[in-house]
Amino acid sequence: MYNGIAASRGIGIGSICVIAEHELKYDAVKVEDTESEKARFDSAVEKFKKETAEMAEDIRKRIGPKEAEILEGHLVMMSDPSMSGEMGKMIAAGQCAESAVEAVCDMFIGMFSKMDDDMMRQRASDISDIKVSLLKILLGIEDIDISKVAPGTILVARDLTPSMTSQIVKENVAGIITEVGGKTSHSAILARALEIPAVLSVPDITNLVKDKDTAIVDGTEGNVYINPEGDILSQYIIKREDYIKKQAELKGFLGKETVTADGINLELFCNIGTPKDAKKAVECDGEGVGLFRSEFLFMDNTKMPTEDEQFAAYKEAAETLGGKPVIIRTLDVGGDKDIPYLNIKKEENPFLGYRAVRYCLGNRDNYMIQLRAIVRASAFGKVKIMVPLVTCVEEIRAVKEMVAEIKKDFGEKNIAYDKDIEIGCMIETASASLIADLLAKESDFFSIGTNDLTQYTMSVDRGNADVAYLYSTFQPSVLRSIKHIIECGVEAGIPVGMCGEAAADPLMIPLLISFGLTEFSVNPVLVLTARCIISKWTKKEADDLAGKVMSLETEAEIQKLLKESAKE
Ligand code: PEP
Ligand code: MG
Repeated sequence: MYNGIAASRGIGIGSICVIAEHELKYDAVKVEDTESEKARFDSAVEKFKKETAEMAEDIRKRIGPKEAEILEGHLVMMSDPSMSGEMGKMIAAGQCAESAVEAVCDMFIGMFSKMDDDMMRQRASDISDIKVSLLKILLGIEDIDISKVAPGTILVARDLTPSMTSQIVKENVAGIITEVGGKTSHSAILARALEIPAVLSVPDITNLVKDKDTAIVDGTEGNVYINPEGDILSQYIIKREDYIKKQAELKGFLGKETVTADGINLELFCNIGTPKDAKKAVECDGEGVGLFRSEFLFMDNTKMPTEDEQFAAYKEAAETLGGKPVIIRTLDVGGDKDIPYLNIKKEENPFLGYRAVRYCLGNRDNYMIQLRAIVRASAFGKVKIMVPLVTCVEEIRAVKEMVAEIKKDFGEKNIAYDKDIEIGCMIETASASLIADLLAKESDFFSIGTNDLTQYTMSVDRGNADVAYLYSTFQPSVLRSIKHIIECGVEAGIPVGMCGEAAADPLMIPLLISFGLTEFSVNPVLVLTARCIISKWTKKEADDLAGKVMSLETEAEIQKLLKESAKE
């Protein structure tokens, strides 16, 4: 078995076709007739643009506009005079077209690949694609026609460029294995869009296999089997059938309400980090945004985003959701989330230190900017404000006072905003849980952050592998805390949601139904799975199970019972 990055879920079984890499060799001779060399280069660039535009159009039609953007980006880059202009200059100075293309592309690849930002590094791989395509045109090398592979083919390549991927006929390709590329690489994006199982970054795989070998691609776990034993093959044939059945079942939940088996309507929201993710939330059928982690706007910047910049981002998310709720969490800096330009001093215990609402209330001018931006955005959708890491009543009162001041100012200046904008607490500390009854009187809603609630209840650093064995939301103490928070919210008549990872955990869902949680906020890709699980439980069944679970004494017993009771 070989292991790689699980880049596109599902199981593919089939016969291997290795896409050999051509050696892009040429003699870097000095060119005398620079004019005709430039003409040869220009016609290669024209051919590149024409072919790329055709492929982009094809991808747009067959896969979607978002995926076509990758190739459209290549066109934009090649039309940028800083790339082709530089190449032209080198040719005018006597270099052959191939070496001019290689030198300029390598210069840009080197520059982009050193950058910290994932998007910028992706640009390096775009330019690498452009370089290979241009060199192939100049050297007259024809690629293997992937559109002609037989049904049940597993493609194996060093890398799968967008141009190769554009030729894929979904029905014929059972899986993809590559030697390079990560979860956010183009191969991964396109494989996911085409719903083809893919495992990437399997070292040396092109040399370890040959054409017609049988392969299993487990894109969910990131495993690859070559010429597997009969029992492994038969196990995977069953797994593949189960997976296909499950996917078909999940698709049936698209566009449906989130409702328990006995007809209780619940809300299924999404966790997002950027306005772009808001689109994903809509595409994945989220019924709102339960957590907009606004700190990503601050992290993706080299300085504090201005009120207008923040307003634009919040407004975009609000408009994308078209009137469905968007809960924006105010800056949750500190702990494991560092924002260098804020110059927060190093602390012995950052998770117990100057973070989130504590930092914000200590830096009111900056907090005012963020709150103003959010309140302004409330004129464009159903925006709500959520305060992270609350530990005492004074904190939520202080934020409410600031918002009241902003409303007064906006009223005087005739700036539009939602007069009923709600302000809620994230309940993610032991203290907030213990005073949930008091906080409920001050809040329009609660959202339980189980990632931190588990950390602070169990006194385990959520990132420390040595104590990870204690970090479980199924610990009796954490479950009691969750139940208590929900009960306090219900008692006070405010809605209680959950935006920690536990909201999407299939084992946790029946307990949350029983405790009375009304809003589940999950990663967009988990919306349908969560909706499907919710649909399988009646309140009575969930109550019976929760009753038994809450009488157990250890985490292991609880997990065991929940696993035994899980509904597939
Ligand atoms: C949480 O703590 O559960 C949560 C959702 O917030 P974060 O993971 O961003 O700390
Ligand atoms: Mg948190």
